[in-house]
Amino acid sequence: MSRRSRSRGGYDAVVVGGGPNGLSAALTFARAGRSVLLLEAADEIGGACRSAPLLGPGWINDLGSAIHPIARASPFFAGLDLESHGLEWITPPASVGHPLDDGRAAVAWRDLDRTVEALGRDGSTYRRIVQPLADRLDDLMDLSLRPLLRVPRHPLFAARFGVQAAVPARWYAKGLFRTDEARALFAGHAAHAVLPLDRPLTSSFALMFGATVHTVGWPFPRGGAGALTAALHRCLLALGGEVRTGHPVQSMADIPPADHVVLALTPLQVLRITGDHFPAGYRASLARFRYGPGLFKLDLGLSGPIPWTNPDLHETATVHVGGTVDDVALAERVVAAGHHAREPFLILAQHSRFDPSRAPDGKHTVWVYCHVPNGSTRDMTEAIERRIERFAPGFRDLVEHRHASTTADLEAFDANLVGGDVGGGSHGGLQLLLRPRPQLVPWATPDPSIWIGSASTTPGGGVHGMAGHQAANAVLSDSIRPNV
Ligand SMILES: Cc1cc2nc3c(=O)[nH]c(=O)nc-3n(C[C@H](O)[C@H](O)[C@H](O)COP(=O)(O)OP(=O)(O)OC[C@H]3O[C@@H](n4cnc5c(N)ncnc54)[C@H](O)[C@@H]3O)c2cc1C
Repeated sequence: MSRRSRSRGGYDAVVVGGGPNGLSAALTFARAGRSVLLLEAADEIGGACRSAPLLGPGWINDLGSAIHPIARASPFFAGLDLESHGLEWITPPASVGHPLDDGRAAVAWRDLDRTVEALGRDGSTYRRIVQPLADRLDDLMDLSLRPLLRVPRHPLFAARFGVQAAVPARWYAKGLFRTDEARALFAGHAAHAVLPLDRPLTSSFALMFGATVHTVGWPFPRGGAGALTAALHRCLLALGGEVRTGHPVQSMADIPPADHVVLALTPLQVLRITGDHFPAGYRASLARFRYGPGLFKLDLGLSGPIPWTNPDLHETATVHVGGTVDDVALAERVVAAGHHAREPFLILAQHSRFDPSRAPDGKHTVWVYCHVPNGSTRDMTEAIERRIERFAPGFRDLVEHRHASTTADLEAFDANLVGGDVGGGSHGGLQLLLRPRPQLVPWATPDPSIWIGSASTTPGGGVHGMAGHQAANAVLSDSIRPNV
């Protein structure tokens, strides 16, 4: 790639899509001294990592992502010193809580010893599984956030992790743990895979999230997830990157001249934009890319904090409301089969307990979602509120404001959320490991000037920027050649 200056006609790189991956791709080019333009369809950048006052003035609600362990552990973000660009992380004492009936709850404290003690009979097993991963979080991130088809940096560690990760999460939880609490904790982490918990590799999510609990914790940016985007944006501008919002790219003709283009988009949009530019075989393989279930999301404004029966749940921003391991597994199985769960598994964030800037004085935010079939139009408000009420009687009396988002609403604010799929595509089967299709360099296309770098590529969904960063790095690297 040349160090051509803009004035000689075109950018070194244009990135399409201003989510965390597009921003990371643009930052990677800018840090390498290349001229870069980021094009974003919406009027503001951030994609699914943005905030807005959905409930009215005085409220800050996260439109997409809310809790950011993987962002905190991201090797790329760690090198950007985002704190000097205004980012402030808030890390609650407990990373996640999981209520059960009779006032019980499993709580993953950031402090491993406290968690082990709280898990009683399962404490030592929990430590045996989680501590080796937490002790080597950097190696675990290197393994999980980089391409599969390469020699791992630590082959023994990789092999040991791979054997555990391959086991379906429900088997793992029930085979190793004896208490409802430890089993539920494991199942709640695993349900972030948005897959039935009887599927191979679902344990990989539980193990990775489990390791972050006791290291970086489960933090979130003060002032909203958009504060993370704002810090990335400031960093990009400081490095000379350019950003153009309100610029939807419908075809390659909408992209200014550039040596390289990184599409931080999903295969569906890549196919639309590139038309018949790529060979038919490659187009067919992108068309086979599978999207996963969608989300129904609810933002609530409460007159007080959620009255959890178990007081430990006030010590965490993240609550998995899902009941036992079998309840969680059933809910996810029902959704994967194309139906709506009567007792859905919920991922809930209560930011305002730790970040008063999120709500008017004395009021509280609730960000909560459940999985639904892709493209679902059903309003899940009643099912969600009923589920929370079970573990926090009196909760419904506190609700003053509601804002519901169906799968179509999500896709309308960010076209990458196809059918409400927030992971950029299913993590089922080989698509977890080889995204968007099996090939040596995941981000390459048959055209050496066009690359893909979104959640639809390795390493998949979540706010970590590693897909965009690695796509841009592959462009910059002389040693890596497209292998399609
Ligand atoms: C409700 C919800 C909850 C989530 N919760 C979490 C969480 O708690 N923690 C976590 O880590 N992750 C979470 N995620 C997932 C995470 O936000 C995504 O995986 C991540 O944002 C993907 O980044 P991306 O850059 O690949 O795509 P996106 O963030 O989706 O950004 C894509 C961007 O491309 C733009 N775009 C699309 N088409 C075009 C076009 N044709 N021309 C120009 N621009 C275009 C879009 O407008 C958008 O800005 C959540 C997502 C959602 C929606």
